[in-house]
Amino acid sequence: MKPAPFEYHRPDTIESVIKLLEDYGGDAKIIAGGQSLLPMLAFRLLAPSALVDICRVPDLNNTTFSEHGVALGARLRWVDIERDLQLRSRYPLLVAGVEHIAHYQIRNRGTIGGSLAHADPAAEFPALVLIHEGQIQVQGVGGSRLIPADSFFHGMLTTDLAEDEIITGVHLPAWPSTRYWSFKEFARRTGDFALAGVALHFQLNEGRIAEPRIVAFGIDDRPVILAPLQSILDGALPTPETFAAIGAAATKLDVIDPPSDLQASSDYRRAILGVLVERALVDAFDKRGGAR
Ligand SMILES: Cc1cc2nc3c(=O)[nH]c(=O)nc-3n(C[C@H](O)[C@H](O)[C@H](O)COP(=O)(O)OP(=O)(O)OC[C@H]3O[C@@H](n4cnc5c(N)ncnc54)[C@H](O)[C@@H]3O)c2cc1C
Repeated sequence: MKPAPFEYHRPDTIESVIKLLEDYGGDAKIIAGGQSLLPMLAFRLLAPSALVDICRVPDLNNTTFSEHGVALGARLRWVDIERDLQLRSRYPLLVAGVEHIAHYQIRNRGTIGGSLAHADPAAEFPALVLIHEGQIQVQGVGGSRLIPADSFFHGMLTTDLAEDEIITGVHLPAWPSTRYWSFKEFARRTGDFALAGVALHFQLNEGRIAEPRIVAFGIDDRPVILAPLQSILDGALPTPETFAAIGAAATKLDVIDPPSDLQASSDYRRAILGVLVERALVDAFDKRGGAR
């Protein structure tokens, strides 16, 4: 199938983007990398009157480090993140997660803003922003606002973004280099969307786990903070027995409702989640060379 006809605009300022979105009253779509939008147009799951191409809007592909963290422009592509050596050393979990996204050709076009706005529950980047306690910067007719990741995602393909708003970037707080971290996902083929995935980090304080944070994706209609696991993990000894127990607890979580679809049943997703959580904990601990 071919997309339904649409008008095409390529403004060169944020203000013009917002004006166009306002003028079309919800019937225009921003296009960034086109890697999610174009298939939806081709299948006629969407038929907007207009596309607003943001490729000429300046300053949307900057990466700016400060003492507070890093600001990432919305039009940064996956390959931009992977190739950034500063990001690689300062935000290792971010880059490790991005490397799992799709195939090279898609990573060469797909953008971080597009992924956040699209809000696929199995996408890596929304989970990565959530694990980093990041905030999403948006701008619209009413001005600009910063939305914490834990309130940005409302459900499958649904976000807090208003019709006239554009995502301009993402702010991630500074990443302590003492963190133990890991990213694990399971997909049927390399480059496919994951059936389930986990990002986590923790600190060690006098030999015990401290400040654990665990985020899972692909197991609900949005990325989820696995708070009950964090509570069990906090203060625990980092032993194989602890990691196995947390993995087992992950399969029984009642804060998630994994979907059943053609790829996997709900129970299978729970089983995968348990395995991934245990492997990620072991991996995080091993990476730092700790003795067990
Ligand atoms: C075969 C295939 C496999 C894939 N596998 C994965 C995968 O494993 N993991 C994964 O995470 N993704 C995967 N993707 C999706 C890919 O990462 C997309 O590039 C990404 O989700 C969307 O980015 P984009 O720049 O292409 O957005 P677009 O397709 O241009 O836009 C997507 C949506 O976001 C909106 N939008 C775009 N930019 C903005 C903005 N700045 N502000 C507001 N709204 C905006 C658009 O209006 C549209 O609704 C896959 C895609 C394909 C085709």
